[in-house]
Amino acid sequence: MPGSAPHATFNGNAPLRRPVGNSNQNMDVIVIGGGIAGVATAYHLRAAGHRVCVVERHATVAQGATYGHGGNVLPTPLDVWFGPTFLASRQNAKNGVINKIGFNGAARQFVKQLAALQEPEAFARQYGRLRPLIEASRDAMADVEARFGLEFEQTSGLLHLVRAEHEWEQTQPALGLLRQYEVPHHVLTPAECAAYEHSVRTEPEFAGGVLFERERTANCPLFAKLIKQTLDSQGGVQFMLGCEVSAIRLEGQRASVELAPRAGAAARSREVEVIHADAVVVAAGHGSLALLERIGLRLPLHPLRLHTLVAPIAHEECAPHVAIVDAVKRIGISRMNQRLRIAGGAVLQSAGQIDKPLGEAVTKEALALLGQATHDWIPGAARISAALPWEGVKLLSPDGLPVIGNALHPRLFVNAGHGPAGWGLACGAGKLVADLLSGHAPGLPDDTLAALRTDRFQ
Ligand SMILES: Cc1cc2nc3c(=O)[nH]c(=O)nc-3n(C[C@H](O)[C@H](O)[C@H](O)COP(=O)(O)OP(=O)(O)OC[C@H]3O[C@@H](n4cnc5c(N)ncnc54)[C@H](O)[C@@H]3O)c2cc1C
Repeated sequence: MPGSAPHATFNGNAPLRRPVGNSNQNMDVIVIGGGIAGVATAYHLRAAGHRVCVVERHATVAQGATYGHGGNVLPTPLDVWFGPTFLASRQNAKNGVINKIGFNGAARQFVKQLAALQEPEAFARQYGRLRPLIEASRDAMADVEARFGLEFEQTSGLLHLVRAEHEWEQTQPALGLLRQYEVPHHVLTPAECAAYEHSVRTEPEFAGGVLFERERTANCPLFAKLIKQTLDSQGGVQFMLGCEVSAIRLEGQRASVELAPRAGAAARSREVEVIHADAVVVAAGHGSLALLERIGLRLPLHPLRLHTLVAPIAHEECAPHVAIVDAVKRIGISRMNQRLRIAGGAVLQSAGQIDKPLGEAVTKEALALLGQATHDWIPGAARISAALPWEGVKLLSPDGLPVIGNALHPRLFVNAGHGPAGWGLACGAGKLVADLLSGHAPGLPDDTLAALRTDRFQ
């Protein structure tokens, strides 16, 4: 290893505090990643009394998958990316996922594992394990909102729409779970959908819709930035922006991270900059995989590319008042001021391809899915030709649930793989990490904790 490790503090001059006795109180914790998962984790760690350093390679927070979020705050059984309707068709245009895995064995295995959750009982079991985290996240978020009175473009109302009769049949297990968990919702006929939301067209015929009046959409990157501001003003959390973690070190009772040389620094010094701490939380989204692999933890999470279009409203009278979700293709359309944010258009590739450019034809195909869904459900609402495209990568696990918990070493924690639901889940996930790291009993059932653990894939 070149050079020594000269930097050993969070802020460059304050000495590190050691843990008090054997207790896990008041630790120095490094959080890798300034997406919603990292920021929410930092918030809860600080609330639990720890001193935190968030290391983010971008110049500000919320620049990864968090930036491209579709707006849906918390997942219902209709939103999760597993179950009877997910990848149910082999046709890209029907299931909303463009499959480009070819003969890649690992990617095929991943799809096969997810497909096992199409079976209604397996779907119900897995959603049942996720449900307590959803509830914990709802509570954690409500607490943050009540404490700080944050405004992040929260809007109530989500209307899921289903096209074909056979897709409506496939939706029934999810409707059963809505009843079982007493999630407030209304099942609507097409005419009732159009009566509730004037912008929804009734021709050609579609199967029906499910309205969630209380579920919300909101602006995830704005929320992340507001939390950062709150932490900045309270103190106790340092954000090291524009810094990339190149490696994690685990030694005895300590954990530390090596930073990649910053631009221009490499020529001046061959010393590796190291930050020492008592614990490290990896919440680096897609970047988590490489960091963990370097220390011997290979998680079978799969990167999935997703797209957004942000389109100006074309005709105000055609614009929706609630968020619309194409339930089977999992394309969300939410209004943000004078624009519509359209998110989805997933592309499934082999993991090795994810850092390479997608190629014009596939990008076009993915964006066309978004444009078509908007045109199909709310014609005349968006000016797609003037829309701004964006793409990002999120991590999906083969069993549909995120990876949250301790890994490899008593002082290493992971919070990643939230798939399509990282927005609101981040608050509950961050609290869970803070509880585990502090040695507090998490208020979640054992089977949920087991289903989230990092070692569950072995
Ligand atoms: C198009 C799209 C639409 C979506 N829609 C929704 C939705 O409607 N509802 C919902 O709940 N979820 C949605 N999601 C998913 C949600 O956005 C993600 O689950 C969530 O943002 C993941 O947050 P994260 O913090 O784990 O990852 P990210 O936001 O990707 O953050 C990870 C951060 O880690 C940093 N990083 C990585 N490696 C390193 C390193 N080595 N050193 C330093 N920093 C590093 C990255 O720069 C990045 O900022 C959507 C995702 C996409 C892409």
